[in-house]
Amino acid sequence: MRAEVIVDLSAIKHNVELLKKTAGTKLLAVVKADAYGHGLVPVAKAAISAGADYLGVALLEEAIALREAGIEAPILAWLVQPGSDFKKAIELDIDVAAASLKALQEISDASESKKARVHLEVDTGMTRGGFLSEWDQLTAEHLKNVEVVGIFSHFARADEPGEAQNDEQLARFNDMVERVRSFGFTNVIRHLSNSAATIKNHAAAFDMVRTGIAMYGLSPDVKTLGNSQSLALRPAMQLRAAMYLVKDVPADTPVGYGASESTTADTKLGVIAMGYADGIPRIAHGAGVWSAGKKAFSIGRVSMDQFVVDLGAQSKAQSGDWVVIFGNGSHGEFTADDWGAASQTINYEIVTRIGPRVPRIYAAHVY
Ligand SMILES: *Cc1c(COP(=O)(O)O)cnc(C)c1O
Repeated sequence: MRAEVIVDLSAIKHNVELLKKTAGTKLLAVVKADAYGHGLVPVAKAAISAGADYLGVALLEEAIALREAGIEAPILAWLVQPGSDFKKAIELDIDVAAASLKALQEISDASESKKARVHLEVDTGMTRGGFLSEWDQLTAEHLKNVEVVGIFSHFARADEPGEAQNDEQLARFNDMVERVRSFGFTNVIRHLSNSAATIKNHAAAFDMVRTGIAMYGLSPDVKTLGNSQSLALRPAMQLRAAMYLVKDVPADTPVGYGASESTTADTKLGVIAMGYADGIPRIAHGAGVWSAGKKAFSIGRVSMDQFVVDLGAQSKAQSGDWVVIFGNGSHGEFTADDWGAASQTINYEIVTRIGPRVPRIYAAHVY
């Protein structure tokens, strides 16, 4: 093996407990996209054991995979387009989001002796999913064949708690909830908050929060909300790889495709067996690995399966050593936040893009 993701499920459990306590409501653990790259089923089980009330996924396929793994907790799938297999959702007790009259019609049609469990998704200002222009056409009649379990919406700027748009979305959500209540659905689960709102906007907690990134121990926005440590979150993912080759090179040696960088002094280089096909961003500049007790920055372009780091002339590293690409930072290693900053992106993208050929191992982190 040459690279592995090590997921510390006890960190996930800690984060779920912390977030649930912060919210003071039910908690939906967002496990879409292979649990943000951490592994769908193990994370789902850990979240439930730590008190998560619901699981949330984007795709119906993801929800079906959870049921096939024997998970019985309530599951909501919210990216279910018209044409989806709603009968299967009903059969497997998978809650589905409805965001259009067309989808609602199909969901109704699929409901026979057993009714579909539906969460109405409403657009309060994110301008992505959810009812908007069709909302005023929705009547109790459209809903008579389904079980309306919930109503939800999504914040666009929860990571900027001072922005007026948050208050506007909250007010609009309350209006939309009132409308559904006026149809006689007074007992629906209202949910609006993502991780950032769970942490910073208690007024938006309603009956349930939907936490994704924070459950994995990462900050929704390092600049505006602080980092994992200041939020008392524990990053669950550590990425390690083999440094399959260490070599001495003189100063002014060009490194990699395009010779985009050269060594500035006589040094040792380490070649890491992971590349952009595994999710290491090709544009990363200013991150690297933790090797032999110190940081070594990447040098030259990231290749498909490998990248090179400058270990420094004094490094004790040897061919075949394992290095930490990112972890929770507690030993001085780079974090997913660092890799995000070095790649002009966010920690979400760093963890979710790690490719399928990197095995996920469930264990305590190693250094
Ligand atoms: C992905 C997603 C979330 C989780 O967002 P985080 O910022 O990761 O907490 C919550 N709700 C919906 C609808 C989502 O798509």
